[in-house]
Amino acid sequence: MNTFEQGFEQVMAHAAITSHYESVALGDALGRIVASTQYSIIDVPGYDNSAMDGYAVRSNEISLGASYAVSQRIVAGEAPHALADNTIARIFTGAMVPAGANAIILQEDALVDSNDGSDSHLNVSFTELPRADQHIRLSGQDIKKGAVVVEKGRRLTSADIGLLASVGIAELPCYTPIKVAFFSTGDELKNPGDTLSLGQIYNSNRYFLAAKIKALGAIPIDLGCCPDSEAATREYLISASEQADCIVTTGGMSVGEEDYVRQQVESLGAILFWKLAIKPGKPVAFGHIQGTPFFGLPGNPVSSFVTFHLLMRPWLLKTMGYDDSRATNLSQSSLGSVAAKATFDWHNSGKRLDFLRGQASINNAGEVTVTRYQNQSSGVLSSIAQCNVLIPVQPGQQWQAGDACQVIALSDFGELALIN
Ligand code: AMP
Ligand code: MG
Repeated sequence: MNTFEQGFEQVMAHAAITSHYESVALGDALGRIVASTQYSIIDVPGYDNSAMDGYAVRSNEISLGASYAVSQRIVAGEAPHALADNTIARIFTGAMVPAGANAIILQEDALVDSNDGSDSHLNVSFTELPRADQHIRLSGQDIKKGAVVVEKGRRLTSADIGLLASVGIAELPCYTPIKVAFFSTGDELKNPGDTLSLGQIYNSNRYFLAAKIKALGAIPIDLGCCPDSEAATREYLISASEQADCIVTTGGMSVGEEDYVRQQVESLGAILFWKLAIKPGKPVAFGHIQGTPFFGLPGNPVSSFVTFHLLMRPWLLKTMGYDDSRATNLSQSSLGSVAAKATFDWHNSGKRLDFLRGQASINNAGEVTVTRYQNQSSGVLSSIAQCNVLIPVQPGQQWQAGDACQVIALSDFGELALIN
């Protein structure tokens, strides 16, 4: 049986970044993956401007107690005149600093003497001496003309959208999301909303798969639930391969008489591996149907969730152009794990790489600690919903409470949100 690492390598070797991209308006670009690095064609800010409400001055002209005439009033959005010698300018936050001025004095440090009651004939003295450059936001201090704004492969956050707007980019090329056709197998499955008869269960894989595919920015094509028969399985697989960029199924991957998926994929295309030495998730397969990649996930919801998360999710993200190489968190290595302190004794006496479901949090000493979810049965989907990490344990590996172990975030983009 292949190891997890062998399976992972094989899957990722078949992940080629899509060649399709499209221009996306900034307002629609949240969560999209950038297809070409964006550079700024302007300085931001574009001119020196005031960080405060106050007075623009030439710092070397100012002395305490002396009185200065206000020669202009500058509000944000206006172009000022050069500052006349031995005068000052009334200025407001965001307004352009006039040529000649090199400091802003806060209005709180100014004493105003209006000689004729009008706003235009003010004399002002100061209670503080200015330092050169004080309270001035220098041109280009945020982004310099020609600098990178967002890099190719980045998944756009709300802050990125703001940054792109600040340099005037209205639309940008983003990779086209890929289409993922999926179906579940199992005659026992009913949809939420239906009434269950004895022996039936609700189909949870169908719904979490649709949600996870969407959350990753791909387009789910929901083919529903395939009856447990050879003919139906074949028909569903052909239909999936005709309309999508990849296929994912759940269930029907074991060796039971009612498991048809593997044999039909083999007949229509090829299986590259079937079964990995992992727990949960052993009966997981990867192959293709006439070149369309195929992921056959186990039926058990925990197993299908874990195998999707560890194998298909990285494949999907890479295919869609996502580059996590600069991520500082958990998405760095194939397993994307980071160290944590175990709060429990453990020994993996089995022969498979175990992925325990765990809850990672931060303790009073600032350490990341992880506890093991009580019920580790692969039939217990609560173990995924209640947990934020998987804890990989190699065959034979053991530790005591207080020892280090590894954790892998269960979040879609590998970020570790700690439970407190
Ligand atoms: P299978 O791999 O088809 O033998 O299924 C393994 C176990 O997972 C069985 O207990 C199935 O009833 C259950 N199962 C399969 N598919 C689903 C699904 N879509 N939702 C919930 N449970 C499922
Ligand atoms: Mg089944």
